[in-house]
Amino acid sequence: MSDSRHSSEWRVAVIGGGVAGMSAACALAEAGFRVQLVERRGYLGGRASSYLHPGVNEVIDNCQHVLFGCCTNLIGFYRRVGALQRIHWSSGMTMIEPGTGRRSPLGPSKIGLVGLPAPLHALPKLIAAKAFTRADKLALARAFRALLRPIPPDTTQDVASWLKRQGQTTGAIERFWRLVIASALNADLDSIALPYAAKVVRELFMNSAEAGRMGMSTVPLSELYAGAAEFLRGRGSDVIFNANVESANWDGVKEQWSVTTRDGMIAADFLVLALPFEATAKLVATMPPAEGAAKLAAQIERHEHWPICSVHLWFDREITDMEHAILLDRELHWMYNKGRLQPWRKTRGSYLELLVSASRSFAALTREQAIEKALDELAEFFPEASRAKLIKAAVVKEVRATFGVPPGIDAARPGAVSPWPNCFLAGDWTATGWPSTMESAARSGHLAAEAVCKAAGAQRKFLEPDLKPRGLMRLVKQGAGNREERTP
Ligand SMILES: Cc1cc2nc3c(=O)[nH]c(=O)nc-3n(C[C@H](O)[C@H](O)[C@H](O)COP(=O)(O)OP(=O)(O)OC[C@H]3O[C@@H](n4cnc5c(N)ncnc54)[C@H](O)[C@@H]3O)c2cc1C
Repeated sequence: MSDSRHSSEWRVAVIGGGVAGMSAACALAEAGFRVQLVERRGYLGGRASSYLHPGVNEVIDNCQHVLFGCCTNLIGFYRRVGALQRIHWSSGMTMIEPGTGRRSPLGPSKIGLVGLPAPLHALPKLIAAKAFTRADKLALARAFRALLRPIPPDTTQDVASWLKRQGQTTGAIERFWRLVIASALNADLDSIALPYAAKVVRELFMNSAEAGRMGMSTVPLSELYAGAAEFLRGRGSDVIFNANVESANWDGVKEQWSVTTRDGMIAADFLVLALPFEATAKLVATMPPAEGAAKLAAQIERHEHWPICSVHLWFDREITDMEHAILLDRELHWMYNKGRLQPWRKTRGSYLELLVSASRSFAALTREQAIEKALDELAEFFPEASRAKLIKAAVVKEVRATFGVPPGIDAARPGAVSPWPNCFLAGDWTATGWPSTMESAARSGHLAAEAVCKAAGAQRKFLEPDLKPRGLMRLVKQGAGNREERTP
């Protein structure tokens, strides 16, 4: 549908106030559309949000969320709503071993003031890493070299079998591939399609130091988005909180959507469904029959959830001076020193958040068991934890944290255009080429906003370009692009 109306006369209802919905809504408001962002909760952020935890009387993040320099669309969204200056950037990560507490920093190196050209920038620290044996390092070098070659996007290979073919050692698999890569993708190695793992390794360790730097919010996540609500209101748009959308109907005569919540009805010319896959399935089941609806339902059926658990601990004293760490060889995977990352909290003692990715067995523990396990393991990395007094603790289990990216999943990720007129899809699980991340959500929001503009007869570009590979990686990618794609 397109007519001569100015964009300010078009009404758009964006359902879902997560990163996908906020990015779509803000982009469309910037383009002049009148947007209503409809969110079932009383705050924005969806899975990447914070809330007052009644058990500890603290505002905690649903879970620590990190971004990387390569997350250009998320960064673009943060910039649009004034949140970027609240992100603290860190150029490296440190692996730490239980028992000895031995540390192995990873990340870019400089010679004097000059950074090494990509992909060599990460090499000196990898060579020096005590966490890896010589055989592990040779194995990692072999795998990285293989990733300089193109990977067919539709390969049916999973990472576990590819690693086997690359002759990876147990140390390289357990301490790098399982801990760093599989936990970033939040799934087991045999449930991850090779192109997704290749993307993570290239962006975090190979393409450039800028792409691999890690960003963390210095404020609770939902506070980051205060600017999004202001951005919308300042442009004649709005956010409707505590409004669970129960159904959506298309009136073919008026050419408009009506969206029903418990409190009433919202009319719109365009609809953007920015929901997780399971909520999308529920809502589209209420919509009128449409060609392609069965295919979409079948695509959604193929998606699977993976859990993430976090244990939040407050101690009477400092346990470590580190801001964050990768914890080797135990069930805990990551430590974030929230007291240091968010100094405004003025925590007496310290506040640590410990993360366990993709572990269904940890998710099955009771609260008490999870805290006990976390305390035991933490003391193996930071002995001060065994001497400190635990003041309070919270456990957050997200069993529907992320969707998996097994081989063949791309066929189950729909684009922004839906089977219904003037209705568009967004959400991290849609076709973005990215795994289940805030970047995927922001990309999907920008793609859906572009699709709305196109349907309204206005061409707008919101998708942010990818960061260009630097140094030797520029040559590698150009060369690779000209070669016939084949499985390495
Ligand atoms: C524990 C955990 C840790 C994570 N760690 C990271 C990380 O470190 N880095 C990273 O990049 N990503 C991470 N992720 C993934 C990231 O949070 C998601 O990929 C991203 O936030 C998804 O955004 P979204 O907008 O697509 O979906 P959601 O965030 O799920 O947003 C959907 C919104 O729709 C609302 N909604 C649902 N149904 C309705 C309805 N019927 N009516 C109205 N509103 C509705 C929901 O309340 C929600 O606000 C993590 C996720 C979890 C859970």
